[in-house]
Amino acid sequence: MFITDIKYYRYGTPLKKPFKTALRTVEVIESIYVFIETNYDDVIGVGEAVPTYVITGDTKGGIEAAIEEVFKPLLINKHLTVKLLDEVQQVIVGNTSAKAAIDIALYDLLSQEAELPLYKYINHNPGNKTLETCYTVSLNEAVEMVEDGLKYVDEGFNHLKIKVGKDNVETDLSRLKALRSSLPSDVILSADANQAWDEKGARHALKHFDEADLKIESIEQPVGRYEYTILGALTKQFNIPLMVDESLFSTYDARRLVEVGANNLWNIKLMKTGGLHQALKIHDIAQDEGISCMVGCMIETHVSVTAALHFSLAAKQVSRVDFDAPLMVVERQVEGGIVYEGAKVKASEGFGLGIDRKSLYKKVRT
Ligand SMILES: [Mg+2]
Repeated sequence: MFITDIKYYRYGTPLKKPFKTALRTVEVIESIYVFIETNYDDVIGVGEAVPTYVITGDTKGGIEAAIEEVFKPLLINKHLTVKLLDEVQQVIVGNTSAKAAIDIALYDLLSQEAELPLYKYINHNPGNKTLETCYTVSLNEAVEMVEDGLKYVDEGFNHLKIKVGKDNVETDLSRLKALRSSLPSDVILSADANQAWDEKGARHALKHFDEADLKIESIEQPVGRYEYTILGALTKQFNIPLMVDESLFSTYDARRLVEVGANNLWNIKLMKTGGLHQALKIHDIAQDEGISCMVGCMIETHVSVTAALHFSLAAKQVSRVDFDAPLMVVERQVEGGIVYEGAKVKASEGFGLGIDRKSLYKKVRT
């Protein structure tokens, strides 16, 4: 099988309500869907990138330019082999979202060729597991956050992630207190600061989180992307487990985080790693160190989140997932792929991603 063309299309999927974090507000998921065509008419690989420029630096135009100027010349007329996965990573620095879309589409093709669902094709650490997604409560007034939280628990979600760090610590804690006292006691609450604090701010916040006795399961990324040393120090100093997110893009980051002792929990996302190929390498470092991983997503739709699900099913250290973004859309646009049953996430039948590629292709072209 060889690659004959790569097509890509912008497509907007509206959200039910605006998604707000310490960094940004999103109302529409702006996907770039990628289709890798082959010399077999009925075999297409599909991928997705989203322009989360505040985290990855990737814009819509930048993603498209990387595909047009770099990945098309690299891949068109090449035979489909696993070697291409390395070449995609090496041919350009950065551009992890465009790399992710291409890497996902290549994995979709490779596993279709092998006639296996993607997670079985990866065959990294086979074994059955049931995964449940957490649900993120957007940053709003405490009353609205409690309303949202109760609704999500009612819908079957048992782990809520609360965004913190946009306002002062007292406000964050008052929101968390309101949620803790209104929700059933077995609901897991975790917090995500999305790099909101400097070192002093983080120490102040974590001290109060430690003292608040709210059974906060973990707090994610208190400081900026490159503050590895501070992340290590905070991990050692405070009781509340620290999850690393924005500081973990690459195997270099993973090794740095191990060195400094930021080793409680890691959040792996395909838009940061540049797809599954590098995510598996980060996973292996986590496995050597016994670090438990979450797999999360940006504000993405069902294509790239399906790829993240297959990675999660195949990777031993992944004990939890955060795949709520596709649940936030007004109407699902992608047929096949990830299946949601309340909080439970499952892979659909079918080879590769198990997505109806042709119907998506038809939809986004028009
Ligand atoms: Mg996060």
